[in-house]
Amino acid sequence: MNIKSKIIVFSILATLIPAVGLGILSFQQNETMINENVTRELRALANYAGRESDLWIKEQILIARDLATSISTSKILIEELSLENQSQENISVAQQGALELYLKSVHRRLEDVLELTVVDVEGGIVASNVAIPFSVTLSQDWPEDASIQGDVVISPEWNENYATAILSVSVPILSIDDYILGALIVTFDMRSIQLSLKDKVKSPPGEVLLLDKAGNIMLASDAEILNTNESKLFDSGMMNRLQEKPGEYEIFLGPQQEKVVGLAYESEKPSITIIALRNYQSVYSAWEQQRDLFAGLIGIMILVVAAIALRMSHAIVTPLQKLISATEKIVKGDLNVELVNSQHDEIGQLTQRFNQMTDKLRQNQVEINAASDAMQKKNQLLETLSVTDSLTGLYNRNKLNMIISDQLARYERNKRPFAALMIDVDYFKTLNDNLGHIAGDEVIAAIAKKISQSIRNVDFAARYGGDEFIIILTETSVNEAVKTAERIRAQVANVHCSSLNKTLKVTLSIGIIQSEPEDLSLTMLLSRVDSALYQAKRSGRNQVHCSTPIPEVKQQHS
Ligand code: GH3
Ligand code: MG
Repeated sequence: MNIKSKIIVFSILATLIPAVGLGILSFQQNETMINENVTRELRALANYAGRESDLWIKEQILIARDLATSISTSKILIEELSLENQSQENISVAQQGALELYLKSVHRRLEDVLELTVVDVEGGIVASNVAIPFSVTLSQDWPEDASIQGDVVISPEWNENYATAILSVSVPILSIDDYILGALIVTFDMRSIQLSLKDKVKSPPGEVLLLDKAGNIMLASDAEILNTNESKLFDSGMMNRLQEKPGEYEIFLGPQQEKVVGLAYESEKPSITIIALRNYQSVYSAWEQQRDLFAGLIGIMILVVAAIALRMSHAIVTPLQKLISATEKIVKGDLNVELVNSQHDEIGQLTQRFNQMTDKLRQNQVEINAASDAMQKKNQLLETLSVTDSLTGLYNRNKLNMIISDQLARYERNKRPFAALMIDVDYFKTLNDNLGHIAGDEVIAAIAKKISQSIRNVDFAARYGGDEFIIILTETSVNEAVKTAERIRAQVANVHCSSLNKTLKVTLSIGIIQSEPEDLSLTMLLSRVDSALYQAKRSGRNQVHCSTPIPEVKQQHS
């Protein structure tokens, strides 16, 4: 991971971790608070609905009792039940009809009553205001229950036939001597409770559902729920979950298939489940909006921080990269590096020092180059001096040895012969003696100059020692060599001596040989050319002597 990525990742993490951490903490606290509030409100709703329904049921029991009392005083009923007790078959149709009429007339006066049914001790229907009473659901033990507790309240339930929730209260009908003759079952329509399920003014927002034992929705504070809901059956799984933890909120799909938050309360006698619920959106929308806003803000923050980090890392990395590539150039030997420095921070200082360093390196390089050049020149001079004779400027003896060895090797390879000339000044000792060594030196130098001017660039001339010179004429035949020798002799015939300011007559003896296959060494060759010179001297000096297999050429200066 490079520096740029590290800076960006660090910046994002440094922003993200505290912001998200604090955000989550705060949103969790908010959520808990909202949950607590909504739980409190839903409990209040459920409590209120529970109280109201209890109150209503109690009122209905009282009404049922009053009815039972008034009916039990009715002569028709007593007679009917008395007869009933005696024998079912003996019931007179006229009496039953009269009782039904009586019940109907009572029913007409009561708004919330759906059925008024009189049963005998065994629960058999004696008479009812309706042709077929739907709601007579007395338990097997009702007479015992009735003798112990008086009224028996049958748990409210949804009745499909009446399409409403019903509450049945069974009140025992007693004889004058307090025997249970039968019971009056009053079935109430629970719709009237609906308006009082919620205190329109004080109740917190939300709706209340009243469910029967089977899980049918009997009543709802919002009538719409009942009207729109085809199936009145509440989701049993959900109901179980709510009943397991009464008073604790759950989030689930409500009767209108919308997400709701709700809780349940159980009422044992009569068995009713009260569910208070509230639209999830209405509770959490503000919180969710804030959460989304927060997430958006975090996103924007990350973008901004990433952009700043990118810029910062750019400001650090770009000059560093420039420094790296400049250093690479220097490593490769290119010192012409100058970095532009526009920053005033540590990077700027580093760039400045780098520029100073390269300046210094350049200066050093110039000095080293100059020293190296001087050294090279000196070396060249030394090399020249090491191979040059100081008086004449011709090659010295050492160099001559190398040249001859090299020429012999070449000759061996290409078989092209070279010519060697050995030159000696005649009676030079006498010249020295007569004119002095300085003049002698001048003459030697002048002869060397003439020799140099008489040979080609590919030839070599060396001072062999004292007044002796050797010339190597590469790839040259003896005849050509003789011509060169003669030319040299002619050149030195008059040598000007500037120290004496006069022209001297100088003669030379020259021995010439051509390289032969038997010249296996330098010594052999030198010995042969020396012999040739000796022959020239012996023959009277001032002449050229060739020592070759070809017919000897002998010339003498006249
Ligand atoms: P020849 O060769 O004809 O037989 O007689 P020569 O007098 O020239 O005898 P030789 O060649 O043997 O003498 C060489 C002389 O050259 C000896 C020495 O005094 C002189 N000589 C040698 N080197 C130098 C030098 O560097 N400068 C001067 N001035 N004289 C030198
Ligand atoms: Mg001599």
